Amino acid sequence: MRPNSHLHAENQRAQYVSDRQANAVLDELLHTQDVARAFELIDDYNITDEVIRVSEIPAPPFKEQARAEYTAAKFRETGLENVRIDDEGNCLGQLPGATGGPVIIFSAHLDTVFPEETDVKVRRENNRLLGPGVGDNACGVASLICLAQILTAAGIRPPASIQFAATVGEEGEGNLRGVRYLFSEGAYRKGADFFISLDGPGLERITNRALGSRRYKVTLRGPGGHSWGDFGVVNPVHALGRAIARFAAYPAPFSPRTAFNVGVIEGGSSVNAIPESAGMSVDLRSVSDEEIDKLEAFLRRVVEMAVREENSQRTISGTSLTASIEMVGARPSGETSAASHIVQAAMDCSRVLGISPRLDCSSTDSNIPISLGIPSVTIGAGGASGNCHTLAEWYDPSGNTLGVRRLVLLALLLSRK
Ligand SMILES: [Zn+2]
Repeated sequence: MRPNSHLHAENQRAQYVSDRQANAVLDELLHTQDVARAFELIDDYNITDEVIRVSEIPAPPFKEQARAEYTAAKFRETGLENVRIDDEGNCLGQLPGATGGPVIIFSAHLDTVFPEETDVKVRRENNRLLGPGVGDNACGVASLICLAQILTAAGIRPPASIQFAATVGEEGEGNLRGVRYLFSEGAYRKGADFFISLDGPGLERITNRALGSRRYKVTLRGPGGHSWGDFGVVNPVHALGRAIARFAAYPAPFSPRTAFNVGVIEGGSSVNAIPESAGMSVDLRSVSDEEIDKLEAFLRRVVEMAVREENSQRTISGTSLTASIEMVGARPSGETSAASHIVQAAMDCSRVLGISPRLDCSSTDSNIPISLGIPSVTIGAGGASGNCHTLAEWYDPSGNTLGVRRLVLLALLLSRK
């Protein structure tokens, strides 16, 4: 949708009023005993040790149980109520509020991208912690545990019902299965008022736009044969190569931002054998579902053309190539308005702590609630990190107490819906 200048002016005005109101409320909040006590407790809490403990519990895709059980034990220890692990593997707990108060969900994903046998021992090097998954998302889970601890220990009972969710399956082929379950059959099937996902470090980025993606596995199959004796039989690798060359030339628009990637190719068994199959894994992304539709149509077309070409070039009759295109993942796109209460509250709570927030678009657990119209943002837990999704991942915890301070303020501000 194109920005409308009249609407824009209205939003600006609405924003100005809400900024002033929010700032007055924030000002008042900052001077309450509750917040003073919470901030003191945060300073005493060793979040960094928690990050290490969480990070050293393996949580490979589809095998997050151990980390979920640890989180559940911590939730129980803090005094959260109704702590449980649901049928999908998500760990849940809650701080009940007054009846009729808003429902605020704070969440963090448990899973990493690393396979089971990965060494997850965390090493310290100067100010940095080194370990796969330490920033994405051990630091988010640790901050979620810390928030539960602080709110209960400070005796804060906001009118809102505060729900805690450590989710499974955010990364890759997990395809957001944890958060999908929560909002379809699980604890939040009736919805919620606000959803905040803690994902990774940093404090500036406030993700209010959901980057959509679709993933496909393309497989081409033929009869195979001997490279000399059966020459002329259809060759799936030759056809795949042509399909990729055409696909890679797709003119993806910069706005709305769109991207594609052939991430894995496979096939064949020997240099002197005509392969029986060849395949590729393809990732399509865009901030617009319409652009993803176009990309998907293009992908189907190039595969079809490559198969037709290969079949028309064969010289041995009776052999033909077939293709299958299987969708292995889909994440909806969408947006929580920049003028919405949750986005403005996240910005205000950041600014009051000296953080300069910026809005961002990314693919996170928030994609699901955003696509359902639930006001949602994904924010960082504080600290810094690098080499994310690699074995050389590092995390610098400086500033992670500020991250939890912001969460406390956000919980209290959103409670006054
Ligand atoms: Zn993450």
